[in-house]
This record gives sequence, structure tokens and C-alpha cells, in this order.
Amino acid sequence: MSYYKLDQNQFSDFVNLTNKVFYPLTNFVNKHEFLSILDKFTLNKKFFPYPIFFGMRKKDYLKNKNKKKLFLLYKSKVVAEVENLNFFEINKQKFGYKIYGKNFQKHPYFKKFKKENYKFLHFNIKKKYKINLKKKIFLNPSDFSKKIKKKPLASFHTRNVPHNSHIWIHNYLIKKYSSLLIQPLIGQYKKGEYKDDVIMRLNKMVIKKYNSKKIFVIPFFSYPRYGGPREAALHAIVRKNYGCSHFWVGRDHAGYKKFYNKYDSQIFCKQNQDKLNIKIIAEKEPYFCKKDNLIVNKCNCKINCKISVSGSKIRSFLIRKIKVPVMYMPKFISKNLNKLSLIE
Ligand SMILES: [Zn+2]
Repeated sequence: MSYYKLDQNQFSDFVNLTNKVFYPLTNFVNKHEFLSILDKFTLNKKFFPYPIFFGMRKKDYLKNKNKKKLFLLYKSKVVAEVENLNFFEINKQKFGYKIYGKNFQKHPYFKKFKKENYKFLHFNIKKKYKINLKKKIFLNPSDFSKKIKKKPLASFHTRNVPHNSHIWIHNYLIKKYSSLLIQPLIGQYKKGEYKDDVIMRLNKMVIKKYNSKKIFVIPFFSYPRYGGPREAALHAIVRKNYGCSHFWVGRDHAGYKKFYNKYDSQIFCKQNQDKLNIKIIAEKEPYFCKKDNLIVNKCNCKINCKISVSGSKIRSFLIRKIKVPVMYMPKFISKNLNKLSLIE
């Protein structure tokens, strides 16, 4: 028998696909599905924005190309037995253009994509083995939705420890919809980003202050694809599958540097909200107004009063061992942070 070791990204995709987090997609795409999603944003006539594919590097492909069956392993445990292996190719330039836009050649994730996906593989999942994941890593959508008695339920995606702009958004959503799911993306392991347990712990600490039984923090076990509007729409689908009725799409949601325009993700998701079957909240980004000395998302100042509050700014304070100013983050959060909160 042959074994194939999943990396963490593949494993999280597998977990999400087989637990209906990406529903209606429940397995890695075949060639037909891949192209249909890229060209027409559809999967079996339903709207679907982003192909979740299984790729192999050249050396792994050469090792496995004639195999009939594989055992998929994650951290030396068998996760699944798969059969009817079918390797296929996709025009990588086309993928780059469709996902990352006209400057795709320069997108670092396009370079990564080319390197990691010499060939793509479709298979049938013959047997799925029991996977024990801690609740702080993964929660099944059906287990979570059981807890929700009433709609509306708004949702917020983040990859960060909450700062003042996030807190502004939380309060905006709580006031308007009363129930809120904060669902941080965990499972990334890029140097300089926050560690998973720090993200979860501090988001949970913040909701304690809101003192409501209708506010939740659960993980979204995945990884950033920097795929802009299409990935933002995938995030909306995830929240719909967790039982949410509304989803906040941020400014440059899932964007990377200047590859997308600031509001592309909001516009794309809003245009497709009926097909996504979840209402999209597309508001202006909050900032710190230095004239009024508070966080707002609009003001009438004649002067240039805007100071942006961003996670990367705060992380740079931590790296330089500088106290995070309270205009960026309340003290009860920042006092829990230091250089060790970040991935080394
Ligand atoms: Zn102002």
C-alpha cells in the first residue's frame, strides 16, 4: 500500500471539504469542476468562486503517478483511503490571471502555486478515518449551528488579535444584528504573524467584555490564499455553512499588496450575495480620527485626520518592543502581547 503525507494546508482543506465547511463542494475538484469554477464561477450550476484543488510537486507526482490507491497521512496518522486516482493539468497562467488578476506573474502566491502544483489530482474518498481535532482548532458547522436559536447572526472574519478597528466593527455588528460570530482564521504559519492560540485566546477575552450569550468565537481552520474577491466570497460561503445570515467583508478582504483595488472584494461579494445566500455587509473601513480622538468610519473633518489602525502596525510595535499605543488597542489586550506572541 502507498502513503501520501498531507501538508497542513491540504489537511485543513480535506477537513473542511469533508465536514461541509465549503459546501456544496465536498471533495477536491476534478478538472471539469476546476475549469467551471475558474471560467463560470459555478459548480454543478451553483455559484462557487474558488477551486479547492489537490496538487502535487513533481517528485511526488513521479512517485505516485501509477498508483491505484493511496492512504492519506497527516502527522503519521491515516486520515483517509482514496481510490480512482486521476491526475490532470490546468493551464497555470490562466489560473493566475483568473485568481490574482492581470499582474499575476508578480504575485508571490502565484509563484508558490506553480512550484507546489506540478500536477493536480482528483480521487474518490473510499474511507474516511476518525480525526480528533481539538475544539480550538476545528468545530464542525453542524455542531455550531445547533447552538444558534435565532437569526440574524452576523459574522466577522479575522486573522488577528482584536484591535480598536475590530472592536468598532464588533460593536457595529452587535448593535445592528445582536448576535455575532467572530471566526478567526487559524492554521497559518507565516513568520511574523500571530500564533493561533494567541489569536483565539484574545478574541475570547474581548467577547467576555461584551457580556452576551449571543456572541461566539470559534476557529476557521484554514490558511490565507491571498485570492482577493474570489477568496472573500469563499469566506462568505464558509459563514453561511456555519449558519450565519450576514457577513462583514473588509476593505481589501483577502487581498495582497496592490493586486486588487481596495473595495473589489466588497463589490464582488455584494453583487453575488443572492447566489451566496448570505447578506454581505460592505461598509467603509474604520480608522482613528485624530481630531475627534476616536474610532469612526466616517467623519466631517476638513483636515487630514485619518490614522489607520492595522494589525501589521501593531505587530511592528511588538517586534520593536514598543508599548502599543491605546489609540490602536486597549490596554487589557496589549498587555497580553509581546514578541513571543508572533510566529518566529
Ligand atoms: Zn476626522
